[in-house]
Amino acid sequence: MSYDEVMKFIVKNSNKCLNLREAVNLIFESKASPDMKLSFIGHCISAKTLSSTGFNEDAILATAFTEPKGGSSLRTLETIVNGFGRVSGTKYFVTNGAFATHYLVLAQKRTGEHVLLLVKRGKNVIVEKLPLIVYENSGISKVVFRNTQAEQVFREGKESYVKALEGLVYGRVLISALAISLGFEILNCAIEWASKRIANGVSLLEHEIIEQRIADAYARLSTAKLYVAKVSSEDRISWINSSIAKYLSVKYSCRAVESLIKVFGGYAFLKTANIIPKYLHIMALEPAEGTSDIQLKIIMKSILREKSKE
Ligand SMILES: Cc1cc2nc3c(=O)[nH]c(=O)nc-3n(C[C@H](O)[C@H](O)[C@H](O)COP(=O)(O)OP(=O)(O)OC[C@H]3O[C@@H](n4cnc5c(N)ncnc54)[C@H](O)[C@@H]3O)c2cc1C
Repeated sequence: MSYDEVMKFIVKNSNKCLNLREAVNLIFESKASPDMKLSFIGHCISAKTLSSTGFNEDAILATAFTEPKGGSSLRTLETIVNGFGRVSGTKYFVTNGAFATHYLVLAQKRTGEHVLLLVKRGKNVIVEKLPLIVYENSGISKVVFRNTQAEQVFREGKESYVKALEGLVYGRVLISALAISLGFEILNCAIEWASKRIANGVSLLEHEIIEQRIADAYARLSTAKLYVAKVSSEDRISWINSSIAKYLSVKYSCRAVESLIKVFGGYAFLKTANIIPKYLHIMALEPAEGTSDIQLKIIMKSILREKSKE
């Protein structure tokens, strides 16, 4: 698979980006690779955020929020935009960074106010693909902006900051769907394997422990899928629900796969089985759009806010 194929997938499905339910269904149902799906998600987050600005260019978008010093907190950033609308700074882990035509960049003014910027790729944008062991074709990159011309797309301060967080909330639901879809891919392989493999004269499926492992994995994945489907059909995604979806989907998918791997015995570790790489792709979604620790913090904050209203 090449960047070209990934870009084609984004272009072909870009129209689904603005409807969360359609985007989630695509991720659940499409047979596309995890790299294609992650790139689609990276594009969708920016497309959704920019939709209220009237931006409708044919573009491949990347969301550039995380910085090398840390991605869990976006409160203070080192990427600065000056009074002439020129941005300088470094962003890290930018999905689609290697092939995006435009970057949605979260920066700060010297006054400390947040600002969301749209930056067109040009010679003052230096891109270095990161040597990741997963999502190699999603173009995840370090992107350096060197006094680059930028267009401010939302008012500085609260409006820009909230729009950025809303983008993350949207992205969390999509990332959840990707984790679950990978979990189901492994589950289907496990069922196929267990029905064909004979142990002690009967197929693995007839061993109670194997049945239990598969049923347990199915129950976890189905619970997470139901939750994500519920969240994606809400008129307005609540922050707590998107965090619950992200937290549970990654956790349940990882747990499900840990149990399913045992169904394959040693065969799970054959390259041709492609089980462990898929598992790594799920694991790598834990930090994407905010780690589980951060999701728990958001959930707790929402609980306390609700309690204070009682
Ligand atoms: C596959 C993938 C795709 C990504 N795509 C993008 C993208 O397109 N655009 C983009 O901008 N970023 C992207 N990211 C970056 C991602 O958003 C960050 O990795 C994530 O926010 C965590 O930041 P960090 O890696 O700097 O970890 P750190 O912030 O350094 O965190 C390290 C550890 O400390 C914990 N921690 C840190 N702060 C706190 C706290 N306040 N409370 C509790 N625990 C804390 C974290 O939970 C974590 O366990 C991507 C990452 C991955 C893996």
